[in-house]
Order: sequence, then C-alpha cells, then structure tokens
Amino acid sequence: MTKPIVRFAPSPTGRLHVGNVRTALMNVLFAQAEGGMFVLRIDDTDTARSTAEYEQGIKDDLSWLGVTWGQTFKQSERFGMYDEAADKLRADGMLYPCYETADELDRQRKLQRVAGKPPVYNRAALELTDEQKAAYESEGRTPHWRFKLSGGTVTWNDMVRGEQSIDVSSLSDPVLIRGDGSYLYTLPSVVDDIEAAITHVIRGEDHVTNSAAQIEIFHALQNGNGADHLPTFAHTPLLVGADGKSLSKRIGSLSMMELREQGIEPMSVASLLSKIGTSDAVEVRHGLDALASEFSFSKIGRAPARFDEKDLLALNAKILHDTPYEEVADRISGDAAFWNIVRANIEKISDVDAWADIVLKPMSGEIAAEDVDFCNAAAEFLPDTVLPETWSALVGHLKTETGRKGKGLFMPLRLALTAQGHGPSMDDMLVLLGAEKAKARLRGESA
Ligand code: GLU
Repeated sequence: MTKPIVRFAPSPTGRLHVGNVRTALMNVLFAQAEGGMFVLRIDDTDTARSTAEYEQGIKDDLSWLGVTWGQTFKQSERFGMYDEAADKLRADGMLYPCYETADELDRQRKLQRVAGKPPVYNRAALELTDEQKAAYESEGRTPHWRFKLSGGTVTWNDMVRGEQSIDVSSLSDPVLIRGDGSYLYTLPSVVDDIEAAITHVIRGEDHVTNSAAQIEIFHALQNGNGADHLPTFAHTPLLVGADGKSLSKRIGSLSMMELREQGIEPMSVASLLSKIGTSDAVEVRHGLDALASEFSFSKIGRAPARFDEKDLLALNAKILHDTPYEEVADRISGDAAFWNIVRANIEKISDVDAWADIVLKPMSGEIAAEDVDFCNAAAEFLPDTVLPETWSALVGHLKTETGRKGKGLFMPLRLALTAQGHGPSMDDMLVLLGAEKAKARLRGESA
C-alpha cells in the first residue's frame, strides 16, 4: 500500500469533544500505523461562526493529546480554488442555480409528505428558462446552487461498513453554494481532498450519505474517465453515552477543555476513545505509538461505541498509579515520597491536593467521644521518630492493651490522623505525617 495521507477536518466553531477526538484518533492512529501523514484541515468556510480562538483551541487540544500533524491549512484561505471548481461544475452543467426560498422548499416537502412521497428536491430549477431566471433576479432573489446527482447508484467498499450501495435518486441534489454566495462544506472538502491527495477519508457514519454525493463530485471535478483520484472511505459508528443515548446534549461538558480542567490525563482519553467500539479490551496505553500498533479497521464493530465517564476515571486512576514522580513534579505539591504513597488513592491529579492538605497543612482529625482515651493512649505509645513499621507496632500494642480489633481498632486512628475513612495505607501515612503531627492529632489538637 502507498503511504496513506489522511485528514481530520474540524470546524472551528467550538472546542473538540470526545466525538470528534475519536475521529481524529482513528485518523492519527491509522496514519501512524502505516507510516503515513496526518493533515489537520480547518473547515472554516462558515466565516460567521468560525473563530481564531477556537482554531487555536483545537490545535491546543490535539497537542495536549500528543497529536502532531504533518501539514495544516484552513479552507478560508482557499476560496479561489473552490470558485474555480464551482465554475468548472457550472460549465459542465453539473451545478445549477435555484431560486426557491426556504419557505417554498418547506411547503414543497410538506406536500410531498402528504402525498406519501420522499421529501426529495423536485429539480424544478432545471426547467427554468433564462427569462424566468432573469425575472427572479430582478425581484432581488440570488440563487443558491445545487449539484446535479446522477440518479444512479453509488457504491464503495467502506473499511468499516463493507460494501456500500446508495441510490442517489433518493437524495436531494445537494446545495453547494448558499444564496449569499457562501460555501457549504461539501464542495470545499472534495476540492481539498483531491488537492491534498487524501488517500483515506475516515469520519463518523453521519457522513455516509454525504459520501455518496461527494463521490459523484470527486468524479465530476476530475475527468470521470476511470482514472479519477478517489479516497478510500471509512465511516465509524457514532459515540453514545453509557445509557446508549446520544451524547449531543452533554457534548459541551465532554470537551477536551473540560476534561483537562477536571484533571483527566490525555492518555486516559486516548486509550478509551481508541478502544471503545472495537474488539480490543479497554486498557491503559501509555502513548499513541502503542495505540497505533494495535489499530486496525477490522477491529471496529458496527454498533455504536459506548462512552462512559466511569471508564474514563478508572483508566485515569490506573495511569496515575503508574506515573513516576518526575512526570507530575511540576503539577503537585509534595515530594516523591508523598506522591508514591498517595498516587494509588487518587482518580485525578487534582485529588492530590486534598491529600497534600491533610499531610502538609494544620488540621484536626475526627475523634468520637468514646475514642478519646484510645487515641490518647496511641499518642502516648508513639515514639519520637516514626518508621514504616511503627504503625503495626502501634496497632499491635493497642490491640493487646484494649482488646479492640478490626475496624474498631484502626478506624478511630485513621479518622484522628486524617479525618478520612479511607486513603493510603496507614503505615505510609504515619511516616508522612511524622511523629509530632501524629501525636498532636491523636490528642485532638490541630496540627
Ligand atoms: N468539517 C466536517 C465535519 O466536522 C468534516 C467532515 C469530514 O471529515 O469530511 O463534520
């Protein structure tokens, strides 16, 4: 196989979310696995909604995930190319002007529905005479432009969905240029895919129908003599929530920006999004290379991929458990000894703060009235220097002295020392706290 060239083409009208990051990853991992190139295309033909901040945000989010691109460009800088392509289609009679207003089209569709017909554009504009067009224009109507579909069947072998066959007579001729002269994404995308020699178009299955129309546009823009460049398509199933429902309403809270702010690690996101919906188990991987070496379209199933935040947290916890101090040193307070002890008890890096407060800041623990004497006895027993074995000596001593055992024995101590009912092993916590602080807290003092 020649080296693939793939592209990820987000619109800078918002930040990246789990859905489009999954598409980005499929492209990146495939390119990396095959030694190909990943192109980042910014789909900013909608100049009213696209912003430079979102474009930068998209690049920041990808970089955060460890994604690099071999090339990047934006569509807003290429209108000249799209105009040329549109002119060619017009000259070939493949792009025709239509003058219906949105209301008129809406009425047409309603009538079709009532008559039990599919709401497909009736191509009335193809019958307009030059006089009729001139009359519309003198009324102040500016045309929108539709691409003339063949009315036949478009087939392709999809790398995820297998043989696809779409009868384009069931589709409306797609509008490529709006009445105000602006481009919808359909034509620029094909122009760019030809120009950048994109070998594989990998995107969500919500684009399957677009692909049928776009394949016809690919042919219409080239010679149509059988030697046309046509990418291979791969349409991946959509992402749904753990409940099987669409994520669209929650997508804002599932942006990379949000997840990052919540303290989710990039490789948790990448590991989860590249494995859900595939035949591989969802497991932690520590780099995109590892994920790329396991990537294959043949592993992607046809059912929607379920995204569950619980899985994300579980992966995040696992990643942190394995992360050496050097990698988090500038993100946490506390030293290597502290990190090595607390990392097994956190799900997110921000959880470290609470443990740092418990270890480093003055505070009182929780001591129930019936445990006051017990805790004082513990303070009494503690030596001036605590070592990893001090905790079991303490517990052994108190057991013999008081006859307490199990939870009644260690929980009052844990609560007095940390004010938490759970956490890192107390052998280690005691050492981190040190004798002085531990004794004071056991006596009910703030320390
Ligand atoms: N900008 C389009 C989108 O985000 C790109 C689709 C494609 O990959 O062709 O839906």
